[in-house]
Formats: sequence, C-alpha cells, structure tokens
Amino acid sequence: MGTGTDRTFSHEHARDRAQRPSILGRFRASYRQRDEDHLIRAYSANLSQRVPPLYGLVILAVTLLAMRFHGTAPAVLTEVVPAMMSVLALWRLAYWLPARVRRRSIADLRRDLRTMNWVSGFSAAILVGWAVAIYPHGDAAQQSLVHYVISVIGFCGILCLAEAPLTALFFGLSLAVPSTLFFVMNGHPNAVFISVVQATLTCLLLVVANAHHRDFVRLELSREEIVRRERHAARLAADNLANATYDALTGVLNRRAFLSLLERAMNDATGASAWLALVDLDGFKHVNDTYGHAAGDALLKTVAIRIGAQDGVTAYGRLGGDEFALLLDGAYDSERALAAMKDLSRKIAEPVADRGTVLRLSACIGMKRTEGRSVNECLERVDSALYKAKEDGDGAVCMFAPEDEVALRQRVAITRTFNAASLNDTIRLLYQPVWDIESEKVVAYEALARWTPDGGETWLQPSTFIPLADATGRTGELTRAILARALGECRVWEQGLTLGVNLAPRDVLRDGSVESIEQVVREAGAPPETITFDVTERALILDPKRAMHNLQAFRDRGFRISFDDFGAGLASLGNIHRLPLDVLKIDRGLTRALATDAGARALAGTILTLAWQLDIDCVIEGVETEAQTEVARALGIRLMQGYRFGRPLPVEEALAGRQAA
Ligand code: C2E
Ligand code: CA
Repeated sequence: MGTGTDRTFSHEHARDRAQRPSILGRFRASYRQRDEDHLIRAYSANLSQRVPPLYGLVILAVTLLAMRFHGTAPAVLTEVVPAMMSVLALWRLAYWLPARVRRRSIADLRRDLRTMNWVSGFSAAILVGWAVAIYPHGDAAQQSLVHYVISVIGFCGILCLAEAPLTALFFGLSLAVPSTLFFVMNGHPNAVFISVVQATLTCLLLVVANAHHRDFVRLELSREEIVRRERHAARLAADNLANATYDALTGVLNRRAFLSLLERAMNDATGASAWLALVDLDGFKHVNDTYGHAAGDALLKTVAIRIGAQDGVTAYGRLGGDEFALLLDGAYDSERALAAMKDLSRKIAEPVADRGTVLRLSACIGMKRTEGRSVNECLERVDSALYKAKEDGDGAVCMFAPEDEVALRQRVAITRTFNAASLNDTIRLLYQPVWDIESEKVVAYEALARWTPDGGETWLQPSTFIPLADATGRTGELTRAILARALGECRVWEQGLTLGVNLAPRDVLRDGSVESIEQVVREAGAPPETITFDVTERALILDPKRAMHNLQAFRDRGFRISFDDFGAGLASLGNIHRLPLDVLKIDRGLTRALATDAGARALAGTILTLAWQLDIDCVIEGVETEAQTEVARALGIRLMQGYRFGRPLPVEEALAGRQAA
C-alpha cells in the first residue's frame, strides 16, 4: 500500500495525464480553425478567391475525362453523371464568388465555413465514386489519365483550401484514401507507385497547409492588432481635440477655444461687431457646499443650456468655475442687446429641479461690443462692466459705457500702484471707540485702515483699496500689516480694553490664515481674548463651510468674533445660533432709520434679544445723534459706536478722547 504522499502523487499524475491532450486531440487542435469574427471574415475572403477556380478546374477535368471515356464507358457515366457533377460544381462556384461572400453576414459565413468541411468531403467522394465507376471501362492509357486527374485535383484542392486546413484535410483524405485503396486493389501496373506518390504528396501538402494556416492566423491577428491600435490612436487624437476645445462638464467651448473664437471674431472686419458678454453666477459656491458637487454640476449644465438657447447668442463657452462668456449678434442695437442679456439673466435665475431639490442662483452680466485693439483690452472692459454689475448684485446686467473708460483707466493705474506699494509705508490706522453708555467708559477701540497711493496726499477708504488687495492677491499681507500696526501702536489691552480689527472675507476663508494671524498677535504679545475680529456675512455667503471652520479655529485660539453690519444683508437669523460669535454689531443703516422707522426699531430690538439669548454682546454702529442714542438706550442697548461718541482718529487723539464723550 502506498503512503498518503504516494497517493497524492499518483492522483496528480493521473490528473496530469487526463489533462494532457492525446496525440489525436493535438492533431485535431492543430487543424482547428479560429472562431473570432474578423478571422471568419478573413477565411471567407481568402476562400472566395480560391474555391471558384478550384470548382472551375473540377468542371474542366470532369469534362476532359468524360470525353476521353466517351464511347468506351456507358453514356450515363460519360454524359449524365458528368453533367450533373458540373451543374453542382457550377452552383458551388457561384456560391463562393467574392462579391457574394462579401455581402454575407458573419453568422452566414460561420455557417458556410462549417458546412464547407463536409461539402468538400462529399464532393471528393462523388468525384472518386465516378472515377472508380468509369475506371474499369478504359484501357491502361485511359486509366492513367484517371490517376493523373484525381491526383492533380487532390493536390490543387489541398493547396486552394490551405487557409482552411480542416476543410483541406477532409477534402484530401476523402479523395486520396478511397482512390488509393481502389487503385492498389485494381492491379494497374503503376498503381503502387502512383499511390505511394499520391499518399506521400497528400500528407506533405496537408502539413504545408497546416503551417500555412498558422502563418495566416498570425498575420491576420497582427493586422487586426494594427487596425485596433490605429483606431485607438484615432480615438485618442479625437479625445485630445475635444479636450482642447470643449469643457468636459458642460460640453460647451472651453476658455481657450472661446478666446480664440473671440479673437477671430474681432479680426473679422465684415458686418457689425458682435457683443461680448461675461456671465458670472452669484451664490454658486453656496449651492456646491449646501447641495453637493453633483448639484453644482447639474446647475452649470443647465446654465450652459440656457445660454445656448438664448435668442441672438452666436457662440458661447465656459471660461472656468462659474464664469461663462458669449457672443451676441452684432446686428442687435445696444437696447436690444441689453434686453436680451436681461432676459438671459432672468432665465438663469429660474429654479432648477435636481433630484428632488430646487436649486436657485442668479447671474450678473457685463457686456460690450467686441471693439478694441485686442482681445485682452475688450475682455478687460467687459470684466469691468461685470464688476459694476456685481456691485449692483442680484442678477444685474451692465453695459460698458464710454464714460467707464476713465474709471477703468484709473482703476488699472491704482491697481498697479497698489501692487507695487510697500504696505507698511502706505497704510495708516484710525481708531474709533466703542462706548458703554451705562458706565460711560470706552470699552473697546476699532482699528479702521486708510491707504495712500500718493505719499499721503489722499487717503483712500477700505471700500476702495480692499478690492485692490483682493485683485493683487495681497489681502493677507495687508491684514497682517494692519494688525501688526494696530497691536504696535494701540496696546489698549494693557488698560483692560479690547481692540477690534476687521477681517476681509479672504482672511476668513484662506487656508493658513488663522495661523498667520495668530502668529502676528503672538509676536506683539497681546492676549487673544482682548482682540475682536470683525467679520461680515460676505465670507459666509461665499463659502459657509470653510468660513464656519475658520471662525471656530479663531475662537479656539481665544479670539473674539464679532458679526459686523448685522441686519444689513441677507444673513438668515435662523442660522446665527450656529456661528461661533461673541458680538453682534447692528448695521449703521439700521441705526440711521432708528429714530424715524418703527420697523427698524423692531428689527434692532430683535437683534438685541437674539444677542441676549445667545449670551453675547450687542454693539450698535453709526450712532450720530442724541435721538438715535436715546432710542437705542430705550431698547436696552448698552454698547454704542459712532460719530456721536467719537470719530475715527489717529491713535493719540483717539486714546486722549477716551474719557470725553
Ligand atoms: P465697519 O466695520 O462697519 O466700520 C465702520 C465704518 O463706519 C467706518 O468706515 C467708520 O468710519 C464708519 N462710521 C463710524 N461711525 C460712523 C457714524 O456715526 N456715521 C457714519 N456715517 N459712519 C460711521 P470706514 O473706515 O470707511 O470703513 C468701512 C468699512 O471698511 C468697515 O466697516 C470695514 O468693514 C472695512 N474696513 C475698515 N478697516 C478695515 C481693515 O483694516 N481691514 C478690512 N479688511 N476691512 C476694513
Ligand atoms: Ca467693523
């Protein structure tokens, strides 16, 4: 008895043997034709070139043999049977004509190739049967002709069918085996020699056919591979072209393609110049953050469709992010062009239904005719009109007017000056006190920045230079410079007061902003809890998630956060409790209306109640008159800021006025 290992070994050995194909199996496999569609077509195409001449040869040989045996063999064998065989051969010849084969479906071709095996064997058998039948009716010379014809047809058949080796095998064997046996048994003096030659040559040719088939398949496969690679290369080239031209998300022209189209339009001197419009979506970021990127994508696609559907739009594209550009028919006069863009802005503002939610946004549009020396010059002006439209907000449309040219030039000049300026040398700070009207003391100072473009002759307001800082990418640098200056010259925390510093939306949103601001405060040695950062709702609208995250990060480091200009904008009272806040500052627009407008009073009262409920401070800004002070006092507001208590002043003067409101 064998051990377990022996048993395993013998099992494996048996399995190996079972898996290894037999000689016959290998022989069959070597003759098997491939079944891939493209090879089926190749086999058929090849056979269609060779099968018709082969049948032609058979018809000729049968006719000649019949003529040679005419008179010696019965008429049925020399006339009727040859005629029937020729008709059959003619039918097969016609069936395999190249033009007809080309028209056949793959399924038909596959079936034809399969039937080809037995059809060829059957044809060979009929031929041999007939040859055997006439053979005894001839003399030695006639019989030699039969040998000769059968051999020639056999060899030619194998050669013609070489691309389909299994068919060649069927044909060769069906012809050679019975004929050889018959000739040998019949006792013709040359029979043995002829049969040996025929058998040897048949085997040789079948081996050649097999090798030929292998080469043929290899060639076809490599040709198919080349075609596949060429197709792949063509597809890649098409993809590259599409990527270089179209925006992947919306399928409209991308920035590069649109700008080159714009350039062509501007160089085209025929007809009135088209209108160029830039479309910028408001609140897109909010949609992205609130409803997810898929919703944002759906919205962008819808906007692209709406732009494309607008009457008069001749070309359009996506310049990037949430900015689109379009060309409007130059035949439109300015009134009609403006009306078309207002219509577009209205249509973009229509709600978009996306998977059960309703999405809304608005679009500001700036526009101008495509005149000017260059694409850049034209774009700059349309951009400036867009900027104006965005200041108006809420889907405004603005056309660049000749008088805007001066403002644009000034802006370009001042932007350049700002870009080149040393901020430390060109800013100064004014300080405005925040009063506690109960204790009649200043409790805080707010730093308000000014910037000079001309060495101190004019001092510009933040509303002018903060956008310049944004445009030149220097917002963070400016804020740090202001903060460092304020902490250096106005160390009010040493007297138990807090210092307010305003942050721009970018300061609230930028990565790394919290750390760099904290660094400035640490270097100045100020305790974070004595610094209040004023933020407006703008940052929250632009990117609520990130704003929230960064505000919390400021809070976590001990800084106080004040919500500036509260009551002026869209800030939803419903969400305010989620913000990390220490102070609500009532907007000075509301303060202005306080003495005269009951609605303003009610709103101020609501804000104060909200602050109480959230257990945070409430400061009223822009208090100018006694009447406003009294109304605010009556509402219960203690902390006040405004000209009534002190204008923004340079540090010494501001600190000197501390006790004297
Ligand atoms: P804000 O934070 O609401 O600042 C108060 C603004 O109201 C100041 O204008 C101040 O001069 C003005 N103001 C104060 N009391 C009264 C008053 O009784 N009546 C009237 N009519 N106005 C009063 P300013 O300095 O032009 O600042 C405007 C805005 O610019 C500020 O609004 C603030 O949002 C921003 N800002 C000021 N300084 C900076 C800064 O250093 N960095 C940043 N990022 N923004 C700043
Ligand atoms: Ca402020």
